[in-house]
Amino acid sequence: MLRELTEREAAERAKDTDLKVGYQGEPGAYGEVAAAGNGGVPQGFASFEKLLEALRDGELDEAVLPIENAVVGAITEALEPLADFICEGMELAAVSLTSVPVRLSLAALPGTPIQAVKRAWSHPAALRQCTHRLAQMGIERVVCYDTAGAAQIVAHDASTDAAICSRWAAERHGLEVLVEDVSDKEQNNTRFVHLRMADHARAQVSLAFLRTSNMTATGRLDVLTGATLLPLAGSSEYPVRMWVLGADAARLQALAPVRDVQVISLGQPAAYAAKITPPKQGTEPVVKSLPHATARKAPTVVEVGPLRIGAGARAVIAGPCSVESAEQVMRIAREVASCGATALRGGIFKPRTNPYAFQGHGLEALDWLVAAGKASGLPVVTEVMAVDQVKPVAEKAHVLQIGARNMQNFDLLRAVGRAGRPVLLKRGAGSTVDEWLGAAEYVMAAGETRLILCERGIRTFETATRNTLDVGGMLAARPMTHLPIIADPSHAAGRADLVEGLARAAWSAGADGLIVEVHDDPARALSDGEQALVPARFAELARNLALHPDARLPLAQLRAWVDAIDHDLGVLVQRRLEVARVIGDSKRQTGRAVLDPRREAAVRRTYQEALPGSKTLADKLVDLLLEAAKAQQSIDED
Ligand code: PEP
Ligand code: MN
Repeated sequence: MLRELTEREAAERAKDTDLKVGYQGEPGAYGEVAAAGNGGVPQGFASFEKLLEALRDGELDEAVLPIENAVVGAITEALEPLADFICEGMELAAVSLTSVPVRLSLAALPGTPIQAVKRAWSHPAALRQCTHRLAQMGIERVVCYDTAGAAQIVAHDASTDAAICSRWAAERHGLEVLVEDVSDKEQNNTRFVHLRMADHARAQVSLAFLRTSNMTATGRLDVLTGATLLPLAGSSEYPVRMWVLGADAARLQALAPVRDVQVISLGQPAAYAAKITPPKQGTEPVVKSLPHATARKAPTVVEVGPLRIGAGARAVIAGPCSVESAEQVMRIAREVASCGATALRGGIFKPRTNPYAFQGHGLEALDWLVAAGKASGLPVVTEVMAVDQVKPVAEKAHVLQIGARNMQNFDLLRAVGRAGRPVLLKRGAGSTVDEWLGAAEYVMAAGETRLILCERGIRTFETATRNTLDVGGMLAARPMTHLPIIADPSHAAGRADLVEGLARAAWSAGADGLIVEVHDDPARALSDGEQALVPARFAELARNLALHPDARLPLAQLRAWVDAIDHDLGVLVQRRLEVARVIGDSKRQTGRAVLDPRREAAVRRTYQEALPGSKTLADKLVDLLLEAAKAQQSIDED
């Protein structure tokens, strides 16, 4: 994931052609490669301290620092000064990571026989990466400040000493490469973090610095947060100091008070921090006895036509509780599709508490459902209740639903697992998260990997709602499984008036999607009419979830949609002006200049990122906002 983030960031930031990016070392150092990586103009500094001072004093837009190497781990030479600057109050944001392949060559003056080389110069971190190979060759290690600097020293010295540096640096200084790569490990690379001042950039990469006087406080932190720990030597006040890469900042903050750890985060803005992520990739499953459902792998994406759920793709499945007639399901399908739903639901076999209640129209209704899906461009989801229904339903439906009452019908789970269709697995009203994952394991063990888990409310003592939507259970399941998790606010609420609130709660908690019941004549619905949203209210919910309507939606509805967005925009602009005023006041109080051209550039970047392909619009919006903010400031000063 980090690599993906780095690549996306790199592509976005390649536009910043005049970005001044500092690194430590001479030209030809690996830091220069990292600094140039995102399209910046590299500038070398003699030490990490000088580099960070230049960033602090506004001489640079960005600084790159090596933090971790594949052979030797943490690069303490860079991490220690960085820790010191942060402890002194420098506020930094980690904006991206670059991984630079490292090939450390042994280079000497042309004509030097390799047997004559007795000493090799380089940066201590580079020397550590070649410990064994150099020992084998009987070469002594000599520390200097930089790999490219080592090449320079050897070039100006009439000895048989060698330098350990990149081929590029060797050639630049007229040296001859004697050994192409002397690293102890073949696939060597170093990760660099790109840092900017926090008030000019938004943090993107998860990177945090920890201090504690309690040695045991940081134990198992890697296991608890899924992070990579980069330990430092520490100080007498704080014996343990370390960098944590890749951890969820919110999780670290939550652990900090109990563990007597101070967390200084350079990454993950609040919006990202709140998001709960699937288990970190690795070897062992989260629950050993559930190797498929809790495997530590990349998030599973379930994709059927326009329906795409998982790994950040969020979807809304909507439709009637039961398929009542060909016309009914056709009408509702068109309505939900025009609001941005990406799959159609509808029951043909209904699990009813009372045996005399409507039981569903059976297989005949499957054709009505499929026809409605086809006409509206949506794949269809429908429930199977018995093993002998699986084959005929799987022939035509795109996704097979296992209802709450059948979550532990193990023969049925095995049968849908063999049917060759993705499965939507509802959580049983009386089942624990572990049992839910156990049911998922049954389906997966039978062969089906495309599974969507659905929380639909559990049975509690509360009778004001039909069930209790267990958002906590969804969140608890999130770090345990790679499978997408959606919520069904309709069956949880049992009342139409509560559906939108529960839908928004689940969505804000990071659900991968929703399944919502919609009916155009709830009073006459054959099942679950009390909890059905009418199409206009579903449209309102869809707008609030930022789904995309299409031209089939009646013009009046589309206008209402855009009016509501305009209202939201107006409210946001008002809030922005208020916050900008507070910033102005704060700057005046601390004697800082209210206008800051670098800050303005950062704001422009934010809008350009949010409006890809509309640079002029982004710029015009920023112009208007800045103009309004300036007018407001001068009015205040009068
Ligand atoms: C349904 O989706 O219509 C249904 C019966 O749901 P559950 O199994 O969650 O009660
Ligand atoms: Mn229902």
